[in-house]
Amino acid sequence: MNRKDLELIRNIGIISHIDAGKTTVTERILFYTGAIHRMGEVHDGLATTDWMPQERERGITITAASISTRWQDHTINIIDTPGHVDFTIEVERSLRVLDGTVAIFSAVDGVEPQSEVVWRQAERHGVPRIAFVNKMDRIGADFENVLKEIREKLGAKELVLQLPWGEEENFHGVIDLVEERALSWAADSQGVHYETVEIPEDLRSAAASSREVLLEAVAEADEVFLEKYLAEGEGQIEPDEIRQAIRRITISGQAVPVLCGSGLRNVGIQPLLDAIVDALPSPGDLPPVPGVTPESGSPASRDNTPNAPFSALAFKIMTDGGRRLTYLRIYSGRLAVGEGVYNPGREKEERAARIFQMFANKRSRLDAAGAGSIVAVAGLKHTFTGDTLCDPKDPIRYGSLEFPEPVIYLAVELRSAADEKKLNESLQKLRAEDPTFHVREDAETGQTVLSGMGELHLDVILRRLKEEFSVDLRAGTPRVVYRETLTVPAVGEGVFDREVGGKSLFARVVVRLEPRERGDGIEVDAAHPNLPAEILPAVKRTLSQAAGSGPIGGYKLVDIAARVVDATYDEARASETAFEAAAGMGFQSAAAAASPVLLEPWMGVEVVTPEEFLGGIINDMNTRKGRVEGVSPRGNAKVLQARVPLADMFGYSTDLRSASEGRATYSMEFSHYDVVERSPARERG
Ligand code: GDP
Ligand code: MG
Repeated sequence: MNRKDLELIRNIGIISHIDAGKTTVTERILFYTGAIHRMGEVHDGLATTDWMPQERERGITITAASISTRWQDHTINIIDTPGHVDFTIEVERSLRVLDGTVAIFSAVDGVEPQSEVVWRQAERHGVPRIAFVNKMDRIGADFENVLKEIREKLGAKELVLQLPWGEEENFHGVIDLVEERALSWAADSQGVHYETVEIPEDLRSAAASSREVLLEAVAEADEVFLEKYLAEGEGQIEPDEIRQAIRRITISGQAVPVLCGSGLRNVGIQPLLDAIVDALPSPGDLPPVPGVTPESGSPASRDNTPNAPFSALAFKIMTDGGRRLTYLRIYSGRLAVGEGVYNPGREKEERAARIFQMFANKRSRLDAAGAGSIVAVAGLKHTFTGDTLCDPKDPIRYGSLEFPEPVIYLAVELRSAADEKKLNESLQKLRAEDPTFHVREDAETGQTVLSGMGELHLDVILRRLKEEFSVDLRAGTPRVVYRETLTVPAVGEGVFDREVGGKSLFARVVVRLEPRERGDGIEVDAAHPNLPAEILPAVKRTLSQAAGSGPIGGYKLVDIAARVVDATYDEARASETAFEAAAGMGFQSAAAAASPVLLEPWMGVEVVTPEEFLGGIINDMNTRKGRVEGVSPRGNAKVLQARVPLADMFGYSTDLRSASEGRATYSMEFSHYDVVERSPARERG
């Protein structure tokens, strides 16, 4: 493999709000690229990337599936991600290892909340995007409105490459503004065949003016193109030159190409594939991922070619038939079957027993894989999500992934004590797969407590325990994970003065705690003129640890600053342990005096409903202590925006279904932590 081969790879993700059509579009991509020979539909439980039994049953994507296929001599590795807020880790880990994304929007619903969340995620990872406006066949489809929302809600600059041809049920093709031609799909060939014809008379002037807008925007963003455009005029510009300029603009993140179509009606997918190849980067187009040398921590990077030393990031673990598969994005070098690799974070040597190209839950064996590829490896025992693997002789370590913290938990009990061992093993496997799923033992009740990102998340896990691992559990009611913070500054003194093992020990630390702005996190400053340097790390560590357990209920403290404001160090009687104890006591007495409060998670909720149910839904929101922030029309439906404590949203999907005869839908995302205004005992269960 050489640099030329690298240019023929596209690692892309499909992201959007739930139901915009990611899985449906992915299924078409697989079909037209010849990767599958029959198309399965989400609503029939037959889509290729929704392969888990629960995905098929619930009609939603839960786990990011990785699939490789080919188009125009290019290898395209696609990750179909879930849109639901409970599974954002799947989006996060995918974006971390992808080079480009296709963001799908529903032509009827526009830029929905979760689309905005995943868009920002992609932005944060600096991943170039193209947009596909799907569902153009549906009543109420509004291409212009989606463009407006892409501009206004996402603050993105759009490069419109196509106009829709035909409206709603008559939508059957697109006008290609780059090639100046029209593409039309016949209803009967499952979209395999389409005709290329002249732009129809009635769309010519719209197409001409849209093309002018496009070329102006391209010229504005790309200097090479601008020169050509000024020197030669529009008539002389080849479509290839336009495409190359669009590619540069997309990769640099200045603007987003927009295409349109209908996944379900098989319209517009082949041009989308062309755009993936034309506009999104190959692994070689991107700068090397920054890392560090494990020993020294100094900045390091690896050339993203197959000739450089091997390095990769493990972004997903999957247990399949008891066997553990580790998904890798290879950044540099090459990995062959049987070769040893080094995990610098865990200081472990590992061996790649097998390498697979993944095709959702199916796979094919490879002898080796090189820079730019996404593969799964069997035989790794000590590697977890976010870990780096590298050449043992030339180690590098990349930054891990950010894992969101759990917001809800529930206690579980085994129906049969005999399953104890099986339960522990299963939980360990699920933990390895999913870093946002946590397990702990409740010290007081002895119960096992599971925590995660939402009701659906834990529900999926309970079902997997039962169906995949045959562990039958009784689950308690879900509860939200509280946090604590402080509302006024306070000072606390900790004095340790005791005989320990016949030796007199003494330490005194005075700690000042202060509230910080919400979201600012924890800041610890242990430095004080009275404290010698060797004692500082222990004091600092103690203060940081103390923040892990607040004075009200032992919940994590957030958004506070801790500072040592006085200390007594008596050289003859000082010890690290004594200072740890004194710092801990100082922290606790300050925290108790700083008017602590409980915080609970609030969610941003969006409900889309036929107007007739709106009144009832608003009343219900009010009983949940939700703050309704606005109601707006969308097509012939109403969209209600609200903020509601997560504790009051338990069971909402069932309640909303019965309040709207199953016709309203909702989505929610984490908003912020806020002070609990009622006693936690009153929370819904
Ligand atoms: P995902 O949640 O983004 O993966 O969305 P799915 O692919 O599961 O699609 C959600 C629903 O919308 C399914 O019932 C699809 O059949 C339907 N759907 C997807 N694309 C289209 C489209 O272009 N037109 C219409 N009318 N329905 C679509
Ligand atoms: Mg899906």
